[in-house]
Amino acid sequence: AKQQGRNTYQLYTEDLDNKLSRRVTLRSELQEAIEHGQLSLHYQPLLDRENRVVGLEALVRWHHHSKGFISPATFIPMAEETGQIIPLSRWVMRKACQDAQRLVTQGLLAGRMAINLSPLQFHRPNFLSTLRNVLDETGLAPTHLELELTEGILMHDTDGAIDILHALNGMEVSTSIDDFGTGFSSLSYLRDLPIDKIKIDRSFVKSAAKSDKNAAICQGVITLAQELDLRVVAEGIETAEQHDYLMSLGCEVFQGYLFARPMPLDSLSSWLAAPSS
Ligand code: C2E
Ligand code: CA
Ligand code: CA
Ligand code: CA
Repeated sequence: AKQQGRNTYQLYTEDLDNKLSRRVTLRSELQEAIEHGQLSLHYQPLLDRENRVVGLEALVRWHHHSKGFISPATFIPMAEETGQIIPLSRWVMRKACQDAQRLVTQGLLAGRMAINLSPLQFHRPNFLSTLRNVLDETGLAPTHLELELTEGILMHDTDGAIDILHALNGMEVSTSIDDFGTGFSSLSYLRDLPIDKIKIDRSFVKSAAKSDKNAAICQGVITLAQELDLRVVAEGIETAEQHDYLMSLGCEVFQGYLFARPMPLDSLSSWLAAPSS
């Protein structure tokens, strides 16, 4: 038994070593990616009930020289742990605002560019001043910017979050709660905080037209939002059935592969310029 225990231990440490060295490699490669322009942004349109584009969401991409495409679902949480999310987010914010301003100038964007925020980024003392600098430097009007926050961001240091949200509201930068319904959080913050929108998480939208429970959640979220004067976005719309169903519930904004996938700026420009079908 002793012998076996030792082998298990060795396997375990080897495995841990491997994991650790993979992470160390990935970490230094991400540093390189941030510094040497291996990151890019894709943009996904948001549409209203008449299929007019009312906004875009910026989604970061990492094109690794040998591993190919690495999903943000993998490297964003890692960057959050290592603190690399700070320079990464700074790059995302500047690039998204630059591109948004270009689209506005070309008459291709009347709505807002939405940027995903990380908890670490939002709770830094200089968050607002960095944001103001980026807006100044890129010339983007705050009325063309939206920030997507998660429930987790608001639950951590709620008092600090309230002050920032009020400042953003005063600047006319709009805010939305991303992945709404997945955070197990109290709903009272919706009443107390100056938030403009909620995005119903894809997991509820996915089977809303088929599952009674997910339908009830979507319906509940939409009713709640209407009572509180918040707009509702349904994300992850892949089928006409999902679209029709959420329309019937009164949802106002839609995002998903049914309409458009996230695209690089040049494809997006053509897509936006093309007469809508
Ligand atoms: P998210 O903010 O919930 O973004 C929506 C995700 O759903 C995106 O995945 C998008 O490509 C995907 N999506 C959109 N429509 C559909 C659809 O119809 N069907 C399906 N199956 N998926 C759809 P993506 O781009 O892989 O991003 C994953 C997550 O990574 C994001 O989830 C967000 O939490 C995070 N993320 C992405 N970019 C950034 C960023 O710049 N900063 C931060 N902090 N997080 C980011
Ligand atoms: Ca988002
Ligand atoms: Ca507002
Ligand atoms: Ca989401």
